[in-house]
Amino acid sequence: MQVQRVVLNSRPGKNGTPVPENFRLEDTTLSPDLKDGEVLLRTLYLSVDPYMRCRMNEDTGAEYLTPWQLSECVDGGGVGMVESSRCASFTKGDVVTSFNWPWQTHVVMEGSILQKVDPRLVDGHLSYFLGAVGITGLTALLGVREKGNVIKGGNQTMVVSGAAGACGSIAGQIGRLDGCVRVVGICGSSDKCRAIVEDLGFDAAINYRQEDVPTRLKESCPHGIDVYFDNVGGNISDSVITQMNNGGHVILCGQISQYNKDVPYPPPLSEEIQEILRSKNITRERFMVLNYMNKAETALSELSQWIKSGQIKVLETTVDGIENMGGAFCSMMKGGNTGKQIIKISE
Ligand code: NDP
Repeated sequence: MQVQRVVLNSRPGKNGTPVPENFRLEDTTLSPDLKDGEVLLRTLYLSVDPYMRCRMNEDTGAEYLTPWQLSECVDGGGVGMVESSRCASFTKGDVVTSFNWPWQTHVVMEGSILQKVDPRLVDGHLSYFLGAVGITGLTALLGVREKGNVIKGGNQTMVVSGAAGACGSIAGQIGRLDGCVRVVGICGSSDKCRAIVEDLGFDAAINYRQEDVPTRLKESCPHGIDVYFDNVGGNISDSVITQMNNGGHVILCGQISQYNKDVPYPPPLSEEIQEILRSKNITRERFMVLNYMNKAETALSELSQWIKSGQIKVLETTVDGIENMGGAFCSMMKGGNTGKQIIKISE
């Protein structure tokens, strides 16, 4: 069987911005003859995610992430359909996902690393298994629940950075559903600001590329900030932390503004910001969704119900074709996506 796959062509370097040419499309052949325990899959959707930037380095800087190897097939979150199976848990037509799906149009995988999913959970929107009813939805929900200390009736204001992205767009909506009285998003374009306010119900939005973030935070959070869902780090986060109330909570989800720099994770804060955290007794604990997978099943069913009932709206940016994987990854890293960046590989 003739298939196409994407391999790592070159590394951007620890301080480099990734470019589509770091990836290369290849034609290859795949034997559809399966060994015991194997499954032949047709890839439907693939995900590109910020953590993949670490996998482009020779040393990922994280013990739970292995580096992608030059000239080898790249992998990440994927969803697909079983075409044939020699694994007792799967039959033709099953929809399955994996965190280690090769960027390849058809693949043979061990059944043991696949999870079967129920299309009814997403009303047939199978790409949601990579986003709102997958790892990004879990990150938003469990991040808010585990580190946000949102209290119903607590009169709290939440700020979300990366607010129009996959995690941020869901996190803000969950903050509101869980009881925050005011939710303000920070993101990188006026279209994104419009989308999170008009489509998702954020109370206000700040375009960090065009507006003065400290001034706009003062205007849009008149009672200060109690909960901060941090996806970006850097200057934006310094401005938010500076305006946080005593006893506030930072959900340290990600620091994408620093991912093209050779710095440890999480990147060190200035002495001034550390002093604000100390003196105001603000918590800022690292959050890692993979540490909470025992809560995933319940959380996914909650996300599914919220989406079906319309209480959570899902935004996606979809690109067609495996040849566009590298371009979609680089675009997402620079803000080309609104909501979850998805690549559709086949119908
Ligand atoms: P997004 O869909 O949010 O895409 C990334 C977004 O980051 C872009 O759209 C862009 O939006 C924004 N961005 C890029 N560069 C900068 C910059 N210099 N300053 C500010 N914003 C920037 O990705 P995800 O939702 O998948 O991930 C969001 C964050 O969550 C990442 O930091 C990621 O590492 C983290 N994460 C953490 C997990 C955990 O377990 N802790 C699990 C999953 C994700 P804009 O146009 O607004 O700039």
